[in-house]
Amino acid sequence: MSERKQFRAIKGTRDILPPDSGLWNWFEKTARDTFESYNFREIRLPIFEETSLFARSVGGETDIVSKEMYTFEDRAFGLEKPKRIGDVGDFITKVREAANSGQIPNDPSNRAEIETVEQLWRRFVSNDFELGSEEAGGLSPADQIHLMSRSAGDVRLGADISLRPEATASTMRAYIEHGMHALPGNVKLYYMGPMFRRERPQKGRYRQFYQIGAEVLGQSDAPAIDAEVIEMLMVFFQRVGLTRTTLYINSIGDKNCRPAYVELLRTELQKVKEQLGADSQRRIDTNPLRVLDSKIPNEQEIIAKLPRIADHLCDACKENYAGLKRELALRGIAYEENWRLVRGLDYYTRTTFEVIAEGLGSQNAVCGGGRYDGLVELLGGQPTKGIGFAIGSDRSILSIQESGNVPALPGLDVFVAWMGMDTYPTAVKIARTLREAGFDVELPGEEMKFKKLLNLADRLGARYALIIGSDEVASGTFTLKRLADADQKKLNESDLLETLTNERRGTRA
Ligand code: AMP
Repeated sequence: MSERKQFRAIKGTRDILPPDSGLWNWFEKTARDTFESYNFREIRLPIFEETSLFARSVGGETDIVSKEMYTFEDRAFGLEKPKRIGDVGDFITKVREAANSGQIPNDPSNRAEIETVEQLWRRFVSNDFELGSEEAGGLSPADQIHLMSRSAGDVRLGADISLRPEATASTMRAYIEHGMHALPGNVKLYYMGPMFRRERPQKGRYRQFYQIGAEVLGQSDAPAIDAEVIEMLMVFFQRVGLTRTTLYINSIGDKNCRPAYVELLRTELQKVKEQLGADSQRRIDTNPLRVLDSKIPNEQEIIAKLPRIADHLCDACKENYAGLKRELALRGIAYEENWRLVRGLDYYTRTTFEVIAEGLGSQNAVCGGGRYDGLVELLGGQPTKGIGFAIGSDRSILSIQESGNVPALPGLDVFVAWMGMDTYPTAVKIARTLREAGFDVELPGEEMKFKKLLNLADRLGARYALIIGSDEVASGTFTLKRLADADQKKLNESDLLETLTNERRGTRA
């Protein structure tokens, strides 16, 4: 017999099982309720998009895009790589058509690949694969056939797509695609769902993780918008009991003042280059702001002496940042300023913020956000101002669990303990009635002994056992037993519903 393989979830992914999934649902529902109370509405987005959308918006130089995306080639319908040499001609006709109709990438590199296959194919059919011919670049017939099949294999048969590493880019794509700029007022959207990054898994860091995010898009960059977004975020954290947090804010300037600051930073970093590690040295060229993110201990003293963006903001950015702080004070939101908070992505301007939670070790950021005026335009839309954030659900929930602040979530209300087949129809009926009244009910599908029934009810964590024996059926009553203290009452159906409803009001108030 062949050995049976034990499948396991892929490293960096995990299953969220009950009762944790109940906590997740509650967390997400609280987000929905909170965000909708601020007049945000949900947008549901695809999980994969064209790779170039992320490259353009998140930035090709960022770790997320350059190293961490799950990217693959899609395949247009009815196309496959040729299996035999004889199939190559047919393959060329099909890919030419597909490229012309836009089903497969029609960029210069794909066109060149198709061209190579076609040239080799033409020579092959005209029996022109001569040994060492000049046209063949000195390749033997076998090498030419090999090259032809390799080139055919390299033709991309579909779009280059990636699992989303974040959802702001998709939200912007949708905003542009559906002409949402024409909607009245600011467009306020939220989303939730899985994101994918090929990071090294550790506590609080996964390859499939979950974010809840919100974005405001429109024509205004009033600091009140930034402050309201931050207020909504902190109200949400408060509601889910994530209270041991610190909110950090910063302004990283805009296209008028940031380039000069970045150049100044680069110049200053060049002076201390030798004292920095390899990552920071590389970033001096690629993205000097990212050096400020460094957590390497012996770089800290050097970074502390670097010029700070706050001293180099233009007047408009300075006023915007002061306005944000006034607005936060007005709303009673505590914050700390952190001039090193630059965030990793290319699209941020002005306001950046982050929330750190206690008890999470090194992966302690539970939310990151900022303003991204210009991103919509960068993706081909109208000039639009925007701000948003993304909460990491995995870490937030971990932090709530570690703080012991987990709410008592409703569990199984009633276990229907029916005894004897003559009671079964009554049991089925009352189970339906209770479920319709909103209770969570377990109805065993097989007859069991009384002791076993009560034991199971207990082990399932039911609050009540509803005992139905022949006596109860004859008298039209039910025996309701509270499992915590064995208190027992005989009730008719309407009293039963009333008792359970009153009890629920008491426990879920
Ligand atoms: P970012 O999109 O990188 O700004 O991340 C926003 C939030 O998502 C972070 O503050 C984290 O809480 C969470 N997050 C980012 N990457 C991961 C990951 N690999 N695993 C778990 N949570 C993550």
